[in-house]
Amino acid sequence: MLHDQDRIFTNLYGMHDRTLDGAKKRGHWDGTAGLIEKGRDWIIQEMKDSGLRGRGGAGFPTGLKWSFMPKESDGRPAYLVVNADESEPGTCKDREIMRHDPHTLIEGCLFASFAMQAHACYIYIRGEYIREREALQRAIDEAYDAGLVGPNAAGSGWDFEIFLHHGAGAYICGEETALLESLEGKKGMPRMKPPFPAGAGLYGCPTTVNNVESIAVVPTILRRGASWFSSFGRENNAGTKLFAVSGHVNKPCVVEEAMSISFEELIEKHCGGIRGGWDNLKAVIPGGSSVPCVRGEKMKDAIMDFDYLRGELGSGLGTAAVIVMDKDTDIIKAIWRLAKFYKHESCGQCTPCREGTGWMMRVMDRLVRGEADEEEIDMLWDVTKQVEGHTICALGDAAAWPIQGLIRNFRDEIEDRIKAQKSGRVSAVAAE
Ligand code: NAD
Ligand code: SF4
Repeated sequence: MLHDQDRIFTNLYGMHDRTLDGAKKRGHWDGTAGLIEKGRDWIIQEMKDSGLRGRGGAGFPTGLKWSFMPKESDGRPAYLVVNADESEPGTCKDREIMRHDPHTLIEGCLFASFAMQAHACYIYIRGEYIREREALQRAIDEAYDAGLVGPNAAGSGWDFEIFLHHGAGAYICGEETALLESLEGKKGMPRMKPPFPAGAGLYGCPTTVNNVESIAVVPTILRRGASWFSSFGRENNAGTKLFAVSGHVNKPCVVEEAMSISFEELIEKHCGGIRGGWDNLKAVIPGGSSVPCVRGEKMKDAIMDFDYLRGELGSGLGTAAVIVMDKDTDIIKAIWRLAKFYKHESCGQCTPCREGTGWMMRVMDRLVRGEADEEEIDMLWDVTKQVEGHTICALGDAAAWPIQGLIRNFRDEIEDRIKAQKSGRVSAVAAE
């Protein structure tokens, strides 16, 4: 359980002053130059020791990622790019940081950029996040006016510029290489990896792309120490984490908790319980729409971290966007809606995704109505397997996994609907 004094994000929901004055009162920008003076190797080692795993969904170790950046310059500039294109359905945690605690993100950008020898940082913010970009730009302007960024940033001797770039509404631009393409002024289409951005990123230069939350926790890790951060959560799943809980709980919210908190404690302590009680819980998508759903009865004792959700439940922590569904939910329709989303957002560049998302959506259309044949369930499963792992970027997997979760966990419900439809017992459920 996380106590108030251990929270990194002390201004969720804007309870306090979000201006620079308010941020300073909460401890931000305190002794920044002194921490930078400890050097790049120290900062990167602290990040490694903290055990922080990327908060954008994939959970790649942040300190390790930073260490991939060239130690010596080969003449190319290095860049930090912050991925603020938060678009994963259910995910709304980074917007809380940008709206209400923007200075912890900006200070984190300075530390990270210095550690990776980047003089410039681009924050790529989702186009629909209008208030967030206004709040963030205001904070950036304040930081410039106060000399905290710009030449000799915060008196550290490091020259550091920060730019806010607006996206234009494409989900795929949250994929890091599509984001880089978009930032370069091109159509947002993912690149083949490798090369990873640390080798050839923005304008072909060494680049690290990190999620907003990953960067925003950096100042606190450096101030309080790697061992403080790693004292929360289980081994390999360290730290505190923002959870965004939506759906059929009594009080949906974004909340910071210790990693590896149990699902039950998360829901009871912060969300006022499940709507209609625990017996009414049908399914949970624990990590944003890209991960498979889990049956409700398996979730009560679940541990909310990367390894448990993947290893024990075949799902994932992803962005920690926890979507709760009670027994009133038409789960087939819910997953059909996701299939439609991924079909719409596919950039169309590679065949398994471009064609596969269309196939999956069309079969899901019929399953929602109960109009498919039972053998189409296995055929749909096969299509998901042909898409999974065979595409340029993770969108293909993200489209396949929710459907696999549906078939694995709720096959009985799909079959019942088909049988009922064939026997004329129910009228068709209309897909929108
Ligand atoms: P990934 O596992 O391919 O990569 C994660 C990060 O680690 C990347 O920055 C990548 O460059 C780096 N990396 C991985 N292997 C590396 C290697 N061998 N060498 C150097 N660097 C390496 O995952 P991804 O495609 O970047 O992200 C997929 C995740 O994104 C999904 O799990 C999903 O949850 C999440 N997602 C989040 C949002 C959101 O709104 N936050 C939206 C869509 C998807
Ligand atoms: Fe584009 Fe889909 Fe291929 Fe990703 S997997 S590159 S979104 S077509």
